[in-house]
Amino acid sequence: ANRAMFEAKRDTGTSHRYFSSHFAQAGGRQLQLEAELRDALRKGELELHFQPRVLINGRGVAGVECLLRWNHPVRGRVAPDEFIPAAERSGLIVPIGYWVIEQACMRLREAAVLGYSELVFAVNLSFRQFHDRRMTDTMFRIIYNANIDTRLLELELTESAMMHDPDYAQRCLRELHSLGLSFALDDFGTGFSSLSHLQNLPISLVKIDKSFVQRVESDEDAQHIVSAIISLSHSLRKKVVAEGVETAGQLAFLSALKCDQIQGYYYARPMPWADLLDYLEGPHRIIAARRGGH
Ligand code: C2E
Ligand code: MG
Ligand code: MG
Ligand code: MG
Repeated sequence: ANRAMFEAKRDTGTSHRYFSSHFAQAGGRQLQLEAELRDALRKGELELHFQPRVLINGRGVAGVECLLRWNHPVRGRVAPDEFIPAAERSGLIVPIGYWVIEQACMRLREAAVLGYSELVFAVNLSFRQFHDRRMTDTMFRIIYNANIDTRLLELELTESAMMHDPDYAQRCLRELHSLGLSFALDDFGTGFSSLSHLQNLPISLVKIDKSFVQRVESDEDAQHIVSAIISLSHSLRKKVVAEGVETAGQLAFLSALKCDQIQGYYYARPMPWADLLDYLEGPHRIIAARRGGH
């Protein structure tokens, strides 16, 4: 089926050539990107970076989000927004996604050995990955082999990934939750979701999309939306992370609303593993994640 979809995409790509050279070029680039991405895993060109998630009261780092980077030999570092869509379309996101989980588990174990025994590792799961037929089995196998504290592994899903088939989502999340994993709702506010389904799913955390966060200083509507998301989430007993916090003003606003955690350039950008270890040992050292109680 993946193959068929890939061929179908290829057909669409070629037929465009007759109508518009612009589309033909874009289509050609897409195909080349997909072909190169196919090799990227094997050639070791993929890498995880880690962005700290900081407790709002400044008591330390509660966790890190694992973010995929592609170090392309010619193009340089390719941003995920550029290649994740291609990986989704071609189905490559499935093997890549499992590689990401394996890497995250490996770092999680390393962190535990270093004494960061409460540091949460969050991994993004895209639509196609989540709907892979063998998702829960494969996840189970990876986690079992990695021998990690499953309480510390969190999966980030978007509203659309979960709402496409709420019954399926319910079943998968319950199964994975029974292994100890937890779930975050990513980019909240940008998709469509049914609150009743949200309430029924074992989601412990809501991440407010950065498009709202970055407007709270200038846009009153964004303030109301952020405020509503925080109070709704809290009333459903879910923690809230604000994404994309860049300024002291945004931080002050979120702090006043009792948002639980902050993720953004204001504190730290995504960074390679070695830099993260330096960051954790630096002036921001993570008392909370080391001793527990986040
Ligand atoms: P996301 O899951 O919403 O991740 C947060 C994005 O916001 C990251 O972009 C991060 O670098 C960026 N960000 C964090 N703080 C700030 C800030 O203060 N300002 C700004 N302007 N941006 C900030 P990134 O790393 O480029 O990733 C983009 C998206 O690609 C992610 O959005 C996620 O949807 C996807 N992605 C990344 N890694 C993976 C992966 O391993 N698997 C899958 N399926 N998707 C991934
Ligand atoms: Mg995310
Ligand atoms: Mg997000
Ligand atoms: Mg996003």
